[in-house]
Amino acid sequence: MRVSRRHLLQITGVGIVVAGVFPRMAFAARNAIKSMRTGVQPGGKTRFVVETANRPSYTLVYGENTLTVKLSNTPADNSVSAKLASGTLVRNISQTQIGDSVNIVLDLKKPVAEIPKNQIMILEPNGDNDYRLVLDFVAGTTKANSTTTTAAATKTPEKKHIVVIDAGHGGKDPGCIGKGGTKEKDVVLSVARKLRNSLKDAGFTVYMTRSDDNYLKLNERAEIAEKRHADLFLSIHANANPSRSVKGFSIYTLSEKASDEEAQKLADAENAADKIDVSGFESFSKDIRIALSSLQQHAVAEMSEEYANGCARAFNRAGIEQQAGPAVRHAPLAVLRSTVPGALIECGHLSNKAEEKLLKSSSHQDKLVAAIVKSIKNYDFEA
Ligand SMILES: [Zn+2]
Repeated sequence: MRVSRRHLLQITGVGIVVAGVFPRMAFAARNAIKSMRTGVQPGGKTRFVVETANRPSYTLVYGENTLTVKLSNTPADNSVSAKLASGTLVRNISQTQIGDSVNIVLDLKKPVAEIPKNQIMILEPNGDNDYRLVLDFVAGTTKANSTTTTAAATKTPEKKHIVVIDAGHGGKDPGCIGKGGTKEKDVVLSVARKLRNSLKDAGFTVYMTRSDDNYLKLNERAEIAEKRHADLFLSIHANANPSRSVKGFSIYTLSEKASDEEAQKLADAENAADKIDVSGFESFSKDIRIALSSLQQHAVAEMSEEYANGCARAFNRAGIEQQAGPAVRHAPLAVLRSTVPGALIECGHLSNKAEEKLLKSSSHQDKLVAAIVKSIKNYDFEA
């Protein structure tokens, strides 16, 4: 059984609690149908649009009076009913689950001609929509049962993994401030921008919660990760400690209980960002809150842990100083409360004089970024 994190959200949302633990394979990114509609295009063309959570991989099968759009790795979802415009070639639309795929069957008034490649589009998500497979077609003759396959290997480019980078603090919230006056919000923004550029070069789809010096609430940051359907969320920070000799990086994942006293203090400090503009966990959308208490969260925690361990290894290999104690710690960090696996990276201590200097330097920022990029490349997104 393959169940996506998002699908699980639906399952848990209706109160079906699945006891036990799914094997990690169960959480491989599975697509989902979000909406379907038809419309009339200039030239009397019929347009069919299916909106999906992830990039769709499809096959078209032309029947006598049907056009079947087969979406691989996608469950049928009969709660999604197609909006049918009048004056199109489509009479009715139904869904059938065939193995791992869904067959979306367009019942036609007349047979359609094979759709030329330039009339088949996959649109990237934008503000209001997820991925959309768009087909424009006209009546005509096609040998029944001929198929147009867009396997992942041919027309659809390989799925690009989506990383959301969160530069901590910003705007009226400076984060911690080094003795030399270095503000956390500036250092982490610089690192985040470099990271965005490197990840884009490496072929990832990257979004930032903030790309300028502005302030966002912690839940807003987490919700950007949700909305972008991120595969990984990284919150970039720098630390401070009352003891100026404390230095080194540490990586945090979300847990309800802090792994140690230091982790709790860090969570208090980082969560305090929201006290500037108070917003508690209540403000999270209901779906996210449901997920937090669900089995899904278990899977997210597991994936986050795996990422964090890999990231710590990459930092160690790059010779970046680690804070004394465990490299990966756990704390109830508000910014990590989402259904997206992720971690909060404390790149080093601004309260330490030498490290403040390092964190400010472009070359050290490049070193941090290179290590993070390595850890993302090594992360098993499909697990
Ligand atoms: Zn911070």
